[in-house]
Amino acid sequence: MKILITGGAGYIGSHTAKHLARFGHQIVVLDNLSRGHPWAVKWGPLEPVDLLDLPAVQGAVQRHRPDAVVHFAAYALVGESVQDPGLYYRNNFVGSLNLIQAMVEADCAKLVFSSTCATYGNPQRPLLDESHPQSPTNPYGHSKLMVEQVLADFDRSQGLKSCALRYFNACGADPEGELGEVHDPETHLIPCIFNALIHDQPLKIFGDQYPTPDGTCIRDYINILDLASAHRLALEALEARKPLRPAYNLGTGRGHSVREVVAIVEKVTGRKVPVEICQPRPGDPPSLVASAQLARQDLGWQPEWTDLEASIRVAWDWHKRWF
Ligand code: UDP
Repeated sequence: MKILITGGAGYIGSHTAKHLARFGHQIVVLDNLSRGHPWAVKWGPLEPVDLLDLPAVQGAVQRHRPDAVVHFAAYALVGESVQDPGLYYRNNFVGSLNLIQAMVEADCAKLVFSSTCATYGNPQRPLLDESHPQSPTNPYGHSKLMVEQVLADFDRSQGLKSCALRYFNACGADPEGELGEVHDPETHLIPCIFNALIHDQPLKIFGDQYPTPDGTCIRDYINILDLASAHRLALEALEARKPLRPAYNLGTGRGHSVREVVAIVEKVTGRKVPVEICQPRPGDPPSLVASAQLARQDLGWQPEWTDLEASIRVAWDWHKRWF
């Protein structure tokens, strides 16, 4: 397939581009480079387009006429979304609407959408499955949930076939060393721990009084290569007109607290991570752990990186080479 990847210069988008190219798909990246990196676009041409620029998006989709789109381009920082909700609703929601409009006009009817466990909000049970009520605790989660709703409506009215993949926390890096995780500013836990080690500055732990065994937040860290393979499987299922559910969770089913992740980094690096306990970050739910049974069942998805230590080892190898 010819696949347009929005946000293909970002962390998850670039790893997915490499994976899809390896499986013989033709890649075009659409990215405004506001948060992505030109060096991460290696598996197809780059359209340096902002999704808020509707004529430019229409132009790019018309020019390339992709068979399918994988839509990653979005802002994805919970804390920032609480500070500046307008940024999130404009970029993530309006940008997605523009993309969908351009796709419908170009008769491109297959879309895999990058959604998130942040659409669930505070968990009502230990493992979140897709039927868990969606009640986001921050504008980031709301903006993604709104797009899920739009996709359901466009499926009914325009025949736009889509599948939302609700990721839990992406982690890891390309084992071949071509790609890794870097954001500016960096807010994600694992690279923040690496930076704490490299710059010998304490890692800020956002809250240690949560109702979890060690008081710090629990997340489900899913490897970036397993995320990439899920996107390919979803695309191939859409291509084969296999009936899919509107959304699938992607996670390991195992949670790690912030302190546990720190301990794994210490084991991998052989170094003590300096930490400082800070106020909780607004909008952070105490625990988010996936049941990803449906993705296994319907997509045949088989996550291979189930050991967080292995993912952190690859991520550290990449990180220490560049920083
Ligand atoms: N976190 C932390 N210190 C940091 C960065 C993150 O304590 O410097 C915590 C954060 O509060 C959350 C977890 O680590 O509980 C994962 O945060 P991240 O930003 O990586 O992903 P999110 O869950 O927000 O998507």
